[in-house]
Amino acid sequence: MQWEAVIGLEVHAQLATRSKIFSGASTTFGAEPNSQACAVDLAMPGMLPVLNEGAVRMAALFGLAVNAEIAHRSVFDRKNYFYPDLPKGYQISQMYHPIVGPGIVTIEPDDSEPRPIRIHHAHLEEDAGKSLHEDFQGMTGIDLNRAGTPLLEIVSEPDMRSAVEAVAYLRKIHALVTYLGISDGDMSQGSMRCDCNVSIRPVGQTTLGTRTEIKNVNSFRFVEKAINSEIERQIELIEDGGTVLQETRLYDADNNETRPMRSKEFANDYRYFPDPDLLPVVIDDHYIEAIRATLPELPDAKKERFISQHGLSEYDARLLVQNRQTADYFEQVSSRCGDPKLAANWVMGELSRLLNQEELPLERSPVSADQLGQLLQRIQDNTISGKIAKQVFEAMWQEGADADQIIEQQGLKQVSDSGAIETLVDQVLAEQQAMVEDYHSEPVEKKKKKKFNALVGQVMKASAGKANPAQVNSILQQKL
Ligand code: ADP
Ligand code: MG
Repeated sequence: MQWEAVIGLEVHAQLATRSKIFSGASTTFGAEPNSQACAVDLAMPGMLPVLNEGAVRMAALFGLAVNAEIAHRSVFDRKNYFYPDLPKGYQISQMYHPIVGPGIVTIEPDDSEPRPIRIHHAHLEEDAGKSLHEDFQGMTGIDLNRAGTPLLEIVSEPDMRSAVEAVAYLRKIHALVTYLGISDGDMSQGSMRCDCNVSIRPVGQTTLGTRTEIKNVNSFRFVEKAINSEIERQIELIEDGGTVLQETRLYDADNNETRPMRSKEFANDYRYFPDPDLLPVVIDDHYIEAIRATLPELPDAKKERFISQHGLSEYDARLLVQNRQTADYFEQVSSRCGDPKLAANWVMGELSRLLNQEELPLERSPVSADQLGQLLQRIQDNTISGKIAKQVFEAMWQEGADADQIIEQQGLKQVSDSGAIETLVDQVLAEQQAMVEDYHSEPVEKKKKKKFNALVGQVMKASAGKANPAQVNSILQQKL
């Protein structure tokens, strides 16, 4: 039997408002426990929620970015359940009238054809607090700093067919929310989390199989691994004659498997009803159009522009636009040095190599875009070769200095004085007589070329890499 996986994601993006969705408390990450929870977040008697308009604007911005209808009227509902980190006894969410209607995003997993993934809807809700089990002997601590943080829950249709597609979708959502500036998208701080709904069915079947939901997966890598292990589990289960139970599961990264959540950890009857403390959110076309006017250039459009304006390949453009900072950095390097292809190669090559090696985000790169652009200019005006440039770049990285300073200090300036190069060539020809004879007696054109290049290598070596390679070539050619 051939199986097909079916996957739908529910992504929670924490919105980048400065205060909470229904109170004035700060949303800054990492503060002392309970120092950023006000009376509203603590559910003190008589406290009333007041909607933060910033959250509405950000949700609408997202909706416009995925070509969705923005609801002129949306309604907040209470989702009732009991948990210690939820002092009100309910979470305010949008069940029946979400602010963002159906939309579409396009994914391009692993170079394959672009595929549209439908978004079912996106709604606003508040986050709960956090239970701290570690620091308290026999007790649980509750930190309500996160309670009331605005979330946008983005629910996809079950349109993905593999873990790779699910990751591509999540990356696209991540790119969108960060381009829009509505979320920092930092998965390690919980600013973006994802529930993965997974089912399988025989290839060719059109009805859906029974799904399980893997809760709260918090990295791209874990999304891929959790989904793959769940697909495998379901296939084995069905092939052994079992049936998949619709249930909530958790991914255990240490054992790379999903496990059912204890049934106590989730309740099914949330008794949703409209929150009587909050009015419906009514917005008009004028408001929506004002938000549309603030839409920045989005990843797909940027990619097309990088191809048409900068002449980049589809592949390079796609990689560069995945992240807005990278795209901006590239454009700055490119405009500084005037060679987009060279800029792209360095941003995706040497720069990302060193960033990865030191696990630094681009914002903390010791070499700025202007500095890298200047270095690349020095390749183009023949001050240094591409090879020496790598050496200069590493020194810039270590010392925080400009390219010109390093080139000057370390005496790396390319030798373009033809007299000096001639002397070097003469010297090498005298020292390497065997190579020269070998070169002259070689009848096969391709091999002859190789032997010529070996001699070029000798001259370059004699110049400590500083001779202008084009000049070495032509002078050597003449002399031979
Ligand atoms: P609920 O109301 O329980 O949250 P939904 O129907 O809203 O369930 O679906 C939640 C998520 O699960 C959506 O992202 C949807 O695409 C996905 N989903 C629904 N059915 C399936 C299925 N059979 N297989 C995989 N994913 C599914
Ligand atoms: Mg759901």
